[in-house]
Amino acid sequence: MAAFEQLAFGFEEGPGTAAPAASGPAAAQPPAAPTPAPVSHPQASRDVLLVGQRVRYAFRRGKRRTIGFVVGPEGLSVSAPRWVGLGEVEAALQEKAGWILRKLQEQGERSRRLQSARIVWADGACVPYLGRPVQLKLDAAGVSAPGGACLDAADGGLERYAKAAGTPVLRLGLPADAQAERIRDVVHSWWQRQAKRLFDERCQLYAQRLGVRVKRLSLSAAQTRWGSATADGAVRLNWRLIQFPLSTVDYVVVHELAHLREMNHSPAFWDVVRSVLPAYEQAQEPLKQAVPIGD
Ligand SMILES: [Zn+2]
Repeated sequence: MAAFEQLAFGFEEGPGTAAPAASGPAAAQPPAAPTPAPVSHPQASRDVLLVGQRVRYAFRRGKRRTIGFVVGPEGLSVSAPRWVGLGEVEAALQEKAGWILRKLQEQGERSRRLQSARIVWADGACVPYLGRPVQLKLDAAGVSAPGGACLDAADGGLERYAKAAGTPVLRLGLPADAQAERIRDVVHSWWQRQAKRLFDERCQLYAQRLGVRVKRLSLSAAQTRWGSATADGAVRLNWRLIQFPLSTVDYVVVHELAHLREMNHSPAFWDVVRSVLPAYEQAQEPLKQAVPIGD
């Protein structure tokens, strides 16, 4: 039923990537560089040598009809129908060696980015806001509402914020000895308030330009998607988008609103996106490298 049709906009690098079907000509290429990757799955029961690299993988027999590979944060898992021999599984792994090693390496890079993106919640820490860092300042006396937050460069609008010199300061109404979780909670609510306000504004702007009606806009905290839209006009946007440049926020807003006209990713859909955001491809870039941060 159309009213329940929903299209989700997943993170470019989700928690796991399934391999294309294991058939057709072999596309094995050597990996770009032997960087550390999750080459041993915690539930590994078998191993295989792929282009000289030992990979330990979780192996499972399943009801599926074909051999399946998934590379996730923990490493490689393989499932195969009961009637497929181990020799055939091995051959399929060799056939997909290039893809598997590439995905393992990407997962390794992703977890390193996650590590380095981890925020230490303390006075002086920097957190991302609209594509640039803001520095936290614990300042119980300087912020009127206890547990409130106030961005020094906030007046003058977003354009001025984006161009302001130096690192803007986010004052938090917290004592100097506030606990890390308390600091994180205050920043999370501030991020979410800014997200609500900005997304509302951008949705209104682009809904008008696209001639669509948003029945309901809500924030999501989904771990795997940036946004979604249903055919009856309910749009959900991940509040963590507030960490990205405005052009990227606009891209996701327009992407979801365009679904209210085209519930698919056909060329007609991309024409709708392009009609209001000609440079949408550049605006997508930050999402491709993104890891959800701020926990
Ligand atoms: Zn979409």
